[in-house]
Amino acid sequence: METCIATEELAVLAIDDDREDLAILDHHLRNMVGVRVKVALFDRPEEGLKALAAGRYDVVFLDYQLGPECTGLEVFQRVRALGVDAPVILLTDQGDEELAVNCLHAGMDDYMPKGAASNKSLRRSISNAVEKRALRRDLEFHQAELERTVKDLRASNEEIHSFYHTLSHELKTPLTAIDGFASILADGLQGPLLDDQRDSLARIRHGCAQIKRLLDDILDTTRIETGKLSFHPLPSSLDESVRDALSQCTKRARERRIEVRSSIDPRAEQAWFDPQRVQQVLTNLVDNAIKYSPVGGTVELIVAEDPADARYVLVQVRDRGRGIPADRIERIFERLYQASEDDATIRGGLGLGLYLCRELVRLHGGTIRVESEHGKGSTFMFTLRREPLSTEPRKSP
Ligand code: ADP
Repeated sequence: METCIATEELAVLAIDDDREDLAILDHHLRNMVGVRVKVALFDRPEEGLKALAAGRYDVVFLDYQLGPECTGLEVFQRVRALGVDAPVILLTDQGDEELAVNCLHAGMDDYMPKGAASNKSLRRSISNAVEKRALRRDLEFHQAELERTVKDLRASNEEIHSFYHTLSHELKTPLTAIDGFASILADGLQGPLLDDQRDSLARIRHGCAQIKRLLDDILDTTRIETGKLSFHPLPSSLDESVRDALSQCTKRARERRIEVRSSIDPRAEQAWFDPQRVQQVLTNLVDNAIKYSPVGGTVELIVAEDPADARYVLVQVRDRGRGIPADRIERIFERLYQASEDDATIRGGLGLGLYLCRELVRLHGGTIRVESEHGKGSTFMFTLRREPLSTEPRKSP
């Protein structure tokens, strides 16, 4: 259905270097039914643009070929650069459909083949262009609003990250002092201790270590999300990283009487990674395996060549613990996700460990996933490149 032209007198400006074509257009415009038209005709673009800058027009017609070195598209761009927002209709010759489509993509509102111009078709085209222009304006308005919202959200996201970052830093300073003084007391440097006192100090130090781990996870999360995580991959030995990670977990394993076994295939001993970051991933996975295993259980850490892709090594951490319910496995690597409601309160986790593992493995160009059977155990697997990261795509382990 044709929409109405919502103005009593329509101010039209047309630019066409062919005066005869202008005269025909003028004739059809003046004969449009139900609308009075004031027409300004220009056969030279510069004059048309001057008039546009000086006055207000409801519709602009532009010929496509405006002389040997000037196209309607160029003039259109200058029209918009002047801040003129009126609908623009392109006048085309026979067979110029492709040009017309390009001009529509560039933002013009409609086109009219000169041979098809009549008072009726012009009225329809003007209605069309006016309506399209209004829609476009609406769209532009909402797009600008959306961009403002995204910008505001980004800013408040950064503010939140920066707050968590500062908070974690500020909490770590007194925590280090508490742990330091507890260690002085525990070492008997300020006098001999009773067994109960030694035991209390050990608990204080254990608590400090636990809080420090949580704060480090928060700090690393904010660093990852603001792109500020330090990451220095180089040809490294997995043997060393495995040994370092296991030594970090020895105490927790002993407390739960868990045997941690490791095996490293010598052919997969070298890879390209940041030792500190990979140790962090390994510690997280082994720590979880210990945490979610029954007392007296076994945890295995296996490093081997990746059978699916010789360019990678495959690291597996296997436990026979409680496993992960099938309907939760998909979300296990999400930030702050915990598969069981008790994990935060009983096991003291934040749900950031696996998220960090995934992000760190991704930084190395590897992938991480888990296979698990509820009640029977889980195997977490991640890959590391043997050679430096390039842009080639990667299969899942
Ligand atoms: P958390 O600090 O809570 O352990 P993680 O991100 O390390 O956070 O783990 C997310 C959740 O995944 C845990 O809360 C737990 O529910 C589940 N999970 C992780 N590792 C294991 C595992 N080895 N066995 C069973 N569940 C696990």
